[in-house]
Amino acid sequence: MAVKGLIEDLLRSNAMNYEEGRLDILGIPGVVIPAPTYVKLLEEIVERTDTDLMEMLFETGKYHGKIAVDDVGRGNKTTRRQFVEQAINTGNVMGMGELKVEKYEPEGILLVSITDSPLNEFFKKSDSLPDDQVIHYFFRGVMHSISENLFDSEIKSSEEKCQNLGDEKCVIKCEIL
Ligand SMILES: [Zn+2]
Repeated sequence: MAVKGLIEDLLRSNAMNYEEGRLDILGIPGVVIPAPTYVKLLEEIVERTDTDLMEMLFETGKYHGKIAVDDVGRGNKTTRRQFVEQAINTGNVMGMGELKVEKYEPEGILLVSITDSPLNEFFKKSDSLPDDQVIHYFFRGVMHSISENLFDSEIKSSEEKCQNLGDEKCVIKCEIL
């Protein structure tokens, strides 16, 4: 994945805009949070509340995916399939790991992989976050919303494999219900 070239394309097309104190990606203001800080935030939530953290991450990811679809996807002229690639590329730029579409069947299956998510290392080090289950609920939520748009249908999603469990890469599966 030529992420460097993609960043240059984004800058050239003004899809990524930086001014003093402000970073916009595809027109949406962004805040860069280092992975250890993000994981610390999750730890604080787990330690201070009895929230179902993974469910919370999934719902937040779905919200993020809806913003992408509503604010970005519907405003540009790409096909829904091309929008998936654009979203995947943007995730790469934002440092979510190496993201890749593994399989796409227009009848209603999308498989996306994540390799080397920066969160893995910090989840592993944490005493309060789980190390015996799949963890990429936020990203699954994002792909859940994007797949609903892609297939124009209710879908179900699951993380079939996860590097947190020792798998070679994480695999998110979205399919039509
Ligand atoms: Zn995973």
